[in-house]
Amino acid sequence: MFSDIDKRVVKLVERKKLLLIGNGMSGIRCIEEMIKLEPDLFDITVIGSEPRPNYNRILLSKVLQGENSVQQIILNDWNWYEQNGITLLAGEVVAHIDTNARYVCTESGLRKSYDILIIATGSTPFIPPISGSKMEGVISFRTLDDCHRMTELSKCYSKAAVIGGGLLGLEAARGLLHLGMKTEIVHNAPYIMNRQLDAVAARMLQRELEKQGMRFHLSRNTTKIVGRTRVQSLRFSDGTQLDADVVVIAVGIRPNVELAKKSGLHTNRAIVVDDFMRTSVPNVYALGECAEHRGISYGLVAPLYEQGKVLARMLCGVETEPYMGSIPYSQLKVSGVDVFSAGDISGDENNVAYQSYDAVRGTYKKVLMGGKGEVAGAILFGDTSEAAALLGMVKRRASVAELITNEGNSEGIESTSIKAVAALPEHETVCACNGVSKHHIMTTIVEHGLQNVDEVKGRTKASGSCGGCRPMVEALLHFTLKGSNGRHESAVSNFNLTTKSSEAPVCDCMNLSHERLKQEIYKFSSSLNGKMDQIEIINLMNYLARNHETGCNRCRTSIRYYLELLDVVAEQPIDLFSQDEEQERLYRGVRVITGELNHFGLSVEQDNLSEIAQRLRSEWEYISLPYPLQAAVVESTNPVLSILVHGIGICNSPAGFEVYLGGHAQHPVCEGQLVGVAEVVEEAIRLASACLQCYRQTAIYEEPLWSWVKRIGVVSIRENVLRDSVVC
Ligand SMILES: Cc1cc2nc3c(=O)[nH]c(=O)nc-3n(C[C@H](O)[C@H](O)[C@H](O)COP(=O)(O)OP(=O)(O)OC[C@H]3O[C@@H](n4cnc5c(N)ncnc54)[C@H](O)[C@@H]3O)c2cc1C
Repeated sequence: MFSDIDKRVVKLVERKKLLLIGNGMSGIRCIEEMIKLEPDLFDITVIGSEPRPNYNRILLSKVLQGENSVQQIILNDWNWYEQNGITLLAGEVVAHIDTNARYVCTESGLRKSYDILIIATGSTPFIPPISGSKMEGVISFRTLDDCHRMTELSKCYSKAAVIGGGLLGLEAARGLLHLGMKTEIVHNAPYIMNRQLDAVAARMLQRELEKQGMRFHLSRNTTKIVGRTRVQSLRFSDGTQLDADVVVIAVGIRPNVELAKKSGLHTNRAIVVDDFMRTSVPNVYALGECAEHRGISYGLVAPLYEQGKVLARMLCGVETEPYMGSIPYSQLKVSGVDVFSAGDISGDENNVAYQSYDAVRGTYKKVLMGGKGEVAGAILFGDTSEAAALLGMVKRRASVAELITNEGNSEGIESTSIKAVAALPEHETVCACNGVSKHHIMTTIVEHGLQNVDEVKGRTKASGSCGGCRPMVEALLHFTLKGSNGRHESAVSNFNLTTKSSEAPVCDCMNLSHERLKQEIYKFSSSLNGKMDQIEIINLMNYLARNHETGCNRCRTSIRYYLELLDVVAEQPIDLFSQDEEQERLYRGVRVITGELNHFGLSVEQDNLSEIAQRLRSEWEYISLPYPLQAAVVESTNPVLSILVHGIGICNSPAGFEVYLGGHAQHPVCEGQLVGVAEVVEEAIRLASACLQCYRQTAIYEEPLWSWVKRIGVVSIRENVLRDSVVC
């Protein structure tokens, strides 16, 4: 017989039919995220027009260049679909969607109904209206079939022309060279990769590629592809011609929107979606290259993976931030050349914040700034080890002043890159292709004792796709094992001590991570309209602590803490917890000390400071935290230590009320970091309370504040708490 709680569980797992159109990178990444969160929530079917499982399109160039086999770029093999209970209809093209009756039809006549539909149909190569473009020997570069075609053609023909000197065109050209073809690139702009590079970097790149054997025809417009049934040459607007047996057109992409358009969805250039990837039709979502978010349709995977994460969380009922758009960045995957470009690089000389050219090493670096003195874009050539650090600065619109700390030192490139990775916030993504964060890489290195980049790649997938982040992963490995100063203490020891993994199981009786536990509690409370009585809490505990009847002290107190956070406990008194557990709860509060009480004998400007201290004491009196915390309020930062070694420190300086976060006076000693400066008492209280709230919401149970700051990164916390604040 089912208990009440079992019935609820059964109800929760009543499976809705989820249908994904497009078996490509973004759609399947979204499904992967959903499976991580809720493996059993949906009955999933995927329809894909390509006759194979999902593969890494990014690595097609590597297949063409002979560096990867087809097998190596398969992301999810047939077994993966089977093991996860997913029905894959490969080689089927969806021709019609009925959004009223909620079903789709394929060209072959299959009909599939859905409760939730995700459209992730990607893009098609853009073929400009040039006469002769349908001729034999003219191909594009989008799929594995295109790769196979190029390989086959290279066996019979020797002269290739690539129309388009952008990322794809250059990668295709490198592949054709590898296949033994004489390869010429035709580009209509005065320099190659003109969307990602400036003229200096583009010329450096061109020289390198010429050394590899490519030939360039710049500022040339192709007007005709000449031949009878198969291509023989290209004709340009200036009347000149170029002989070619094979022509690859790589001039851009067009989102696949026809299907959505004729099904009544709102489309512009692509399918219009909101911040949660919802289309104009209920229960129909879109993501990937076929989606248009705030007027932008992205053509790179990192943004699409971010979209997939948001959509997956929303569909699984897990609280999520909206998708707010992404900073585009790109890395050329041609062996022997390192090129990186991020953000807005369109500015002129007035926007150049930093520029260096080293002819001996063959390196170039340029950083552009926006109107507010923020890092707006960056170009790297020859050495891309700072790519992730610069990308992080572009993403958080860091002040260009931060660049100064990295330049002008004589410590050499290796040391600079290690410092760059050391400075990255831990949640920052290092491998964008596979969405792997600095924190994940470091914990994996420590947990598995990894010693080289290939081992890191094997365990985390970082640097396993385009390979552009390999120098970053190398620097991160060095930093994790030896620290930023090369001494063997630092990173590993500190990292082990300081970071608490939100992915580790809560305890032995519960096979759930803290993150998962929070979600389970959230799910249960939502099913009860946000209120739970004593019986329901007992049932929940029994259900969650599957390996132990009543749970251990650790999981009971963790569950209790997360319940408190959600404020779901009904009014009647709860006597579920032992006296020790009750005591433990009281202990997890904030203790606010003021200048009069601290050991450093500081004087206090009584009025304001006592007001702050009193207000904080009363506002935070009943607040329950993941871990006990001490906050200090003093008059000045002299001596600095008093403020900087407390979890939260507020001092009244000439600039205003400075608020510091993450200090710790015992081992490991941590210095508090400045979050913001408030002009008036009210703002200071608001800022400190926002920090505390952010800590409560995102820390895991028993994670001290200083450890949480290290894990999340003060930059991210600052962004979070200052987002709607007037504090500078
Ligand atoms: C050669 C190459 C190199 C690249 N290099 C990089 C890189 O270095 N970095 C980077 O970030 N990005 C790179 N990209 C871009 C990246 O691969 C794409 O942004 C990403 O694959 C898009 O994912 P998606 O899911 O939106 O579309 P796709 O991966 O194209 O998947 C869409 C799928 O939907 C299928 N489909 C379409 N219509 C239908 C239909 N009606 N019925 C059923 N199925 C349908 C398609 O066949 C396709 O399989 C590269 C792309 C190419 C081609």
